[in-house]
Amino acid sequence: MQKIVSLCKRRGFVFPGSEIYGGLTGTWDYGPLGSQLKKNLKDWWWEDMVSKRDNIVGVDAAIMMNPKAWEASGHLEAFCDPLVECKLCHLRFREDKPEEIKAHEKEHQKKDEIVEWTEAQKFNLLVKSYLGVVEGKQSEIFLRGEITNGVQVNFKNVLDSTRIKIPFGVAQMGKAFRNEITPGNFTFRSREFEQMEVQFYVKPDGEEAQKWFEYWKKDRMDWYIKLGINPEKLRFRDHADNERAHYAKAATDIEYYAPWGWDEFMGIHNRGDWDLSRHMKFSGQDMRYRDPETNEEYIPYDIETSAGVDRSLLFVLIDAYSEDGERTVLKLHPRLAPYKVAVFPLVANKPDLVEKARKVYQQLKEELFFVAWDDRGNIGKRYYSQDEISTPFCVTCDFQTLEDDTVTIRDRDTMRQERIKLAGLVKTLKEKIA
Ligand code: ATP
Repeated sequence: MQKIVSLCKRRGFVFPGSEIYGGLTGTWDYGPLGSQLKKNLKDWWWEDMVSKRDNIVGVDAAIMMNPKAWEASGHLEAFCDPLVECKLCHLRFREDKPEEIKAHEKEHQKKDEIVEWTEAQKFNLLVKSYLGVVEGKQSEIFLRGEITNGVQVNFKNVLDSTRIKIPFGVAQMGKAFRNEITPGNFTFRSREFEQMEVQFYVKPDGEEAQKWFEYWKKDRMDWYIKLGINPEKLRFRDHADNERAHYAKAATDIEYYAPWGWDEFMGIHNRGDWDLSRHMKFSGQDMRYRDPETNEEYIPYDIETSAGVDRSLLFVLIDAYSEDGERTVLKLHPRLAPYKVAVFPLVANKPDLVEKARKVYQQLKEELFFVAWDDRGNIGKRYYSQDEISTPFCVTCDFQTLEDDTVTIRDRDTMRQERIKLAGLVKTLKEKIA
């Protein structure tokens, strides 16, 4: 983990938030490469979830919502973690994370101290703020603790503005905020993070809901494998009855085998009719769906798939990190890699060679590739530098290029080089990246 954290900082993937002021716990800033990687991940998700499907549409709702929405969704009352406090140093820990509690006890044991814990107390995770010029109860709002609510409150708007019919889904991605008690493991548990979710509405029928629950479990697992993650490090974990969130009828996590053990990637939840019926009750608006064929009216069940963007990205990075002799390689799927290609002139002190390589660089950029340029140091070091940031292909212009318009393409994973005609370069790279 330390190697990944340091690579992320050194090469511009992820920086600690507000670092020059000593940081702000639980916040992270994505740098030039990290922001591109994140965009690639989100674009891929949106393409597979929305663009390629007929039965899922997107929304992008406001982060700040009328506080009644949080009362209705149950978050004001039930979005809580049970906390215990160490009576020696007053640090608080989640009662449902026994590993963290044990680790803290061990720390004290080293100093011959025995920890006593307080009774567990509930702590609400919503981040409070004030909106408007007067601070007080009336201007109190909450930053969204999950992005789901913005979809639920727009259920009728989506129905009225599209011709979509049940079963259908509404996708959204965006920031969420939680006053996490124990942020940590790099970006894994942050206080500001991004989620990508689909709320998939189905007939309120147990069997139908179960069918779609199974469908989404498989669909999401397949997606992570498609991203290139080692399937042996992925598994499902069903939630026990006493572990499920207040809204969930059934819940399964997809977990990854992280350096600290199995941990949650994303969740698939059967939320039943919890959200829509609560919003109907609290807003007084009719949230029922009318079946266009039978005229039957009902509140659908909602099968949710909820993934963290940052967590997915972290696991993708961990999974892609490898050391191979003296080189470090991030073996990211070419679609995720921030740069698809790097272009080098073999030497930097030969103006016609540099000019030729520059032309190749410009041409590739115009073909919508994200292209890196490097003319410093020896070529081996340049290859290694690109391996470390996952650039799948390096194109080198050498003396032969000036004679016969050929270049070499070097493959990140096999380290093999092939010489090809410049005229076919774009086509070859496009095929390789696809
Ligand atoms: P955990 O048990 O790890 O706190 P959760 O079960 O509360 O997570 P959900 O409410 O189901 O998480 O949120 C859905 C997804 O959002 C999670 O699977 C995770 O990918 C992401 N997520 C939740 N909380 C955080 C966080 N604090 N930092 C980063 N990602 C998060």
